[in-house]
Amino acid sequence: MTVLESLQLSTDFLEKKGIESPRLNAELLLSEILKCKRLDLYLKFDQPLKENEVGIYREWIARRGKFEPLQYIIGNVEFYGLPFKVTPDVLIPRPETEILVEEVIKRCKDINASKILDIGTGSGNISISLAKNLSDAEITSIDISDKALSIAQENALINGVEEKIHFITADVKTYMSNNQFDIIVSNPPYVSKEEYANLQNEILNYEPMTAVTDSNDGLDFYRTIAGRAKILLKKNGKIFLEVGKDQSKYVADILEKNDFINIYFVKDYQQIDRVVVGELK
Ligand code: GLN
Repeated sequence: MTVLESLQLSTDFLEKKGIESPRLNAELLLSEILKCKRLDLYLKFDQPLKENEVGIYREWIARRGKFEPLQYIIGNVEFYGLPFKVTPDVLIPRPETEILVEEVIKRCKDINASKILDIGTGSGNISISLAKNLSDAEITSIDISDKALSIAQENALINGVEEKIHFITADVKTYMSNNQFDIIVSNPPYVSKEEYANLQNEILNYEPMTAVTDSNDGLDFYRTIAGRAKILLKKNGKIFLEVGKDQSKYVADILEKNDFINIYFVKDYQQIDRVVVGELK
């Protein structure tokens, strides 16, 4: 079977299963197996696939047909221009979260030796991209999941920033630190119980539920984080939070009630308020 034939068969299969962008998925999976760029497949249309390549491709296409996210199948994703390993123990980093990282970098470029706390680090995407871009940052990354933290540690190694990040298994509700932080950053589980039920199969059946939803109104973690931030942040310390669609005002209210001032929002590419920033009075 040639590259073109296998792409066509796989595209038809994924389309029948109801996978969005079936051709793109078929191409991305095959380019990963052939270790080439997606567009380079077009130069190889007539190339026959080796037996082992066909075997892996069949298996991957079958998995994708059951709605397993492409990133878990190939085992990696790019975030902020950096490579990250992902498994079903961690949320797949989303492009929106790059806006959060960008804002922290923008505000912190001039502050030297800033102490940063990343709450719910997951794959480590936020901490690692900050470590890569803020030369003097000292980062502490907490997560309640041991399994997530071990992936985050691997990712720190892959990106050569393991010395700049301190990983700790901890629950934000009880986490204490000897030193206060200049900055808290978090992309907490913010999907409400109601919305969770309507998410795509890819998320519902494969991504860690506790990384996606608080099983309540979607604002639980903001209440907890804002309360804890009063103890964990220095005076005039800043908080950077990713929020879901239509949550920015509620999160701003929560921050105000917890002594935060100078609150502002940053929009994503779809003009949705995606990041809420505040400063502790
Ligand atoms: N910090 C990770 C991210 O932003 C994980 C967040 C989470 O699991 N809620 O993608």
